[in-house]
Amino acid sequence: MLLILGATLVAAGVILFVLIPILRGEWASLERMAHEGTERDARKTAALRGLRDAEYDYRAGKLDQGDYEALKAEMSRQALAAMEEPGDAAEDELEAEIARARKGLAEGRTCASCGHLNVKGSKFCTGCGGPLKKDSANEILGSG
Ligand SMILES: [Zn+2]
Repeated sequence: MLLILGATLVAAGVILFVLIPILRGEWASLERMAHEGTERDARKTAALRGLRDAEYDYRAGKLDQGDYEALKAEMSRQALAAMEEPGDAAEDELEAEIARARKGLAEGRTCASCGHLNVKGSKFCTGCGGPLKKDSANEILGSG
């Protein structure tokens, strides 16, 4: 009788000994998955922001064509890598983001004093702090 009780306790101990790390491991991996999702979103957001900044800098004349193309390729690669399902949908999303940046630029305002390109709706230049006039828009972008 004592032997059976002892064996049962040992068995229970073994089961717990094996089970607890598995349960802990599952929780840990669940938490890790959630964390990785957040990190991936952050990476994607950062890459898309970089892409937009590159577009702005290029349009504003801060980047030459070669630097811009290189930066754009790198940021696109990072953004696609960070997206959950690489493929057509992710590329569409990326193209949409680029299109948004272009639209913002096309409707942006170029400072008459320093030539800094400001985003749409800006009242003051982020480059020199001067007021922006409506008719000073699109000087750098030209008519096309
Ligand atoms: Zn300015």
